Amino acid sequence: MAENLRGPELMEKLVSLCKRRGFIYPGSEIYGGLANSWDYGPLGVELKNNIKQMWWKMFVQRRGDMVGIDAALLMNPKVWVATGHVATFSDPMVECKACHARLRVDNLEGAVMDAGAEGGWNISGAKCPVCGKKDFGVPRQFNMMLQTHLGPVQDETSVVYMRPETAQAMFVDFKNVLETTRRRLPFGIAQIGKAFRNEITPGNFIFRQREFEQMEIEYFIREEESAEQFEHWLDAMKKWLTKIGVAPERLHFVDISEEDRAFYSKRTVDVEYDYPFGQKELYGLAYRTDYDLSKHEQHSGQDLKFTNPDDQKEKIVPHVIEPSFGVDRTLLVAMLEAYHEDIADNELRIVMRFPYWMAPVKVAVLPLSKKEELSVPARMLAQQLREADLAVDYDETQSIGKRYRRQDEIGTPFCVTYDFDTITDGAVTIRDRDTMEQVRVAIPDVAHYISSRL
Ligand code: ATP
Repeated sequence: MAENLRGPELMEKLVSLCKRRGFIYPGSEIYGGLANSWDYGPLGVELKNNIKQMWWKMFVQRRGDMVGIDAALLMNPKVWVATGHVATFSDPMVECKACHARLRVDNLEGAVMDAGAEGGWNISGAKCPVCGKKDFGVPRQFNMMLQTHLGPVQDETSVVYMRPETAQAMFVDFKNVLETTRRRLPFGIAQIGKAFRNEITPGNFIFRQREFEQMEIEYFIREEESAEQFEHWLDAMKKWLTKIGVAPERLHFVDISEEDRAFYSKRTVDVEYDYPFGQKELYGLAYRTDYDLSKHEQHSGQDLKFTNPDDQKEKIVPHVIEPSFGVDRTLLVAMLEAYHEDIADNELRIVMRFPYWMAPVKVAVLPLSKKEELSVPARMLAQQLREADLAVDYDETQSIGKRYRRQDEIGTPFCVTYDFDTITDGAVTIRDRDTMEQVRVAIPDVAHYISSRL
């Protein structure tokens, strides 16, 4: 990232680039939008898929101790009773009586937690950040689960919740996974999928949405290995952060104090990042003890213990380490890190320096002229590269310089120029996004040249 670009200016530039180039659009835009909802466009979906696929490779397929699931989004509502979400998944909220803004009390400057005060918060020292008045209602807890109804009758018996996290399915399916895969401890279950939260203050682009995606792992262990496994997963998360190209100086690993942790967690580390709007959470890592499985045992009446096939005396409720990753925040951070501006050919150049594996388009094929003698074989080359499983863009409009700029702006690592010499020498020029160096490569070698550098 250009070091001079860190503040709100960077966010504005990124949001505008996302819209202009088809990474991310405001949701439902032709109907005036839907507050804080976002649609991933043609480049955004490629970027997001590349991130999810690499995560799955690193955390599931390349390890012998992990399996995946893809569970239903709507679960039996008893799940959320068992976890405590129905009773306590809430944020303290207050309404400004003057301007009717609904505000999160814990974000309100001057608000202090006070068990003796009405609603558990003393807000006498706080001012409304919207209108500046000091006239608030009583702080109340507001449940963040979104609800819908299943079936034709819409009453309280048909209420189901949109899952507020993907994690619970790994506990609910634990017994099935154990029985069908004959795993031994330690092992983990991973899932990537949508989650929904009726956030009171969504915002900062895709940082806080009401509909978002998570990549989560529940790693089942014996209690005595918890400290060692926690360190292992912290390290695995750091390796992932390096893989997606995050500068270590913008990361903070914050050990959450006992009073700020969920009561069942024995250790939590928040991975925080210096966003242009401040230092905030990117990922979380928690040692959740045997809390979840025990709760599901109690509420479902099922035996969720692990019996060691090699030692029948060992029958335990496993403990759990939970690394939790937001897909959208990963994408946001990857884009913030990738955004660079420099000068090329005396012009300002915006270049998204994505790691090559992440780039939505891997190679652009650019005939030097629209003339058929170049454009016909260039299209054929583009198709050959697509068939070699490369994401290809073909572009023949405007000057070659402009076309390079367009590709730099979406982070395409390689531009292949098909020129008049190609007709006689059967070779093309390949330009590298970062060094802007050009090499001449014979057409039959192009696919290999590019694939071997991704
Ligand atoms: P925050 O403190 O920012 O609200 P959280 O602690 O509630 O986050 P978790 O419940 O730990 O978040 O969720 C795991 C991960 O899911 C987060 O680290 C984040 O990457 C992502 N996430 C959570 N809420 C949202 C949201 N509203 N929009 C986008 N991503 C989210």
